[in-house]
Amino acid sequence: MNQRKRIVILGTGFAAISLVKKIDLTAYEVMIVSPRNHFLFTPLLPSTTVGTVEFRSIIEPVRKTRKGIEYMQGSCRSVDTERRTITCEGVDSGVEFTMEYHHLVIAVGAWNNTFNVPGVREHARFLKEVTDARVIREQVISCLERADIPGISMEERNRLLHFVVVGGGPTGIEFAAELHDLIEEDLGRSYPHLKGEVKISLFEAMNTILNSFDGNLRRYTAEHFKRQGIELRVGTPVQEVLDGGLKLKNGEMIPAGLIVWSTGYGPTGLAQSLPFDKDRSGRILVDECLRVPAHPEIYALGDCSNIAGNAVPQTAQLAMQQGKYLAKALNAIHDGESPKPFKFNNLGMLAYVGESKALADIPKANIRWRGLITYIFWRSAYFTRLIGFKNKVLVLFDWIKTAVFGRDLSKF
Ligand SMILES: Cc1cc2nc3c(=O)[nH]c(=O)nc-3n(C[C@H](O)[C@H](O)[C@H](O)COP(=O)(O)OP(=O)(O)OC[C@H]3O[C@@H](n4cnc5c(N)ncnc54)[C@H](O)[C@@H]3O)c2cc1C
Repeated sequence: MNQRKRIVILGTGFAAISLVKKIDLTAYEVMIVSPRNHFLFTPLLPSTTVGTVEFRSIIEPVRKTRKGIEYMQGSCRSVDTERRTITCEGVDSGVEFTMEYHHLVIAVGAWNNTFNVPGVREHARFLKEVTDARVIREQVISCLERADIPGISMEERNRLLHFVVVGGGPTGIEFAAELHDLIEEDLGRSYPHLKGEVKISLFEAMNTILNSFDGNLRRYTAEHFKRQGIELRVGTPVQEVLDGGLKLKNGEMIPAGLIVWSTGYGPTGLAQSLPFDKDRSGRILVDECLRVPAHPEIYALGDCSNIAGNAVPQTAQLAMQQGKYLAKALNAIHDGESPKPFKFNNLGMLAYVGESKALADIPKANIRWRGLITYIFWRSAYFTRLIGFKNKVLVLFDWIKTAVFGRDLSKF
């Protein structure tokens, strides 16, 4: 190790990248390990599943994030807290490597939670990474192409044209809304025979959708979905996902061409394996300075952690604030100062609900907006938060391209 203390950061998500951008590189040597060699701006991921925005417009290669950092494409498999080393596995090579650290930052996010429903991993699609969005986009187009072949049975055609979302949180709602826009705006032009035959359904086990949003906004969304023809079935748990459909707890069989599973998060394999205290959902418990109490040289932030006695949400804004905070705290430690505790500043929530309408729930400012103006606000808010200038230009270009020429429905 050289003169500077080494910080090893696990992950290239919101928490990790916000930290990397602000850490003092004259004080610390920064090494990042992550299987994903890019940062992904997830709030616009649902838009990429239907081609409103292109995949590469919302990612930034980690090696371009900042000069002077080092990156290794691998997954951390274990942490030796005694020797202060981590063991990792290279992504494509499978080669094992070990690294020493002075400070370790665990920012490995979370995995999709299946709630042990059988068949989810085999037959449903998740929406977490760019690769997931690409698979969904291909499957939507494949269903449309297969349904348009002459001689196909009516039963099979109806199945292929039924798109199902499981989970009524913001991701499920936004995906259903984007899919609806695709069907409404682009189907008539490219698949005139299928117009009016596509059905979108959303199943939610609880009795409400968007349960973190204000009640009026939830009711507005339910009515808006009804107007758009999206079937909303709340209080309807799924028992099993099958090849070609769903089985509900009430015994009903739901044939479907695509099933997108979006029911929340659980801990990653690494987080599960670490011998630290966890909360009920498996998130690593940290103190108010984001340290693992038994090992103050180890920090955990973002979706993989929770603050003991002061629970925080699993959102991008929280992860970003924690990343920035930790950079400041570590810079202060280097200067011989003690860091102040982390404080979450809740900026509220936004969600897209289709046909150029969005929701904004900002309790601090007593704002509960919905509709077209909120949609413009939603777009501007995400546009300004996009990481780099290049991403801003690409996303703006994609929005204009979609408005003028429609979405690209090629499959290759
Ligand atoms: C479709 C979608 C839409 C969303 N929309 C919003 C929104 O509008 N607003 C909002 O606030 N939040 C939104 N979220 C949630 C938000 O994306 C997460 O809360 C946020 O990404 C958490 O940041 P993080 O840094 O903790 O984890 P992530 O951003 O998930 O990053 C985790 C990183 O850790 C890496 N990693 C995993 N395992 C290992 C390992 N073993 N070793 C090393 N690295 C590892 C991963 O490859 C990844 O780079 C959305 C999420 C999704 C999926």
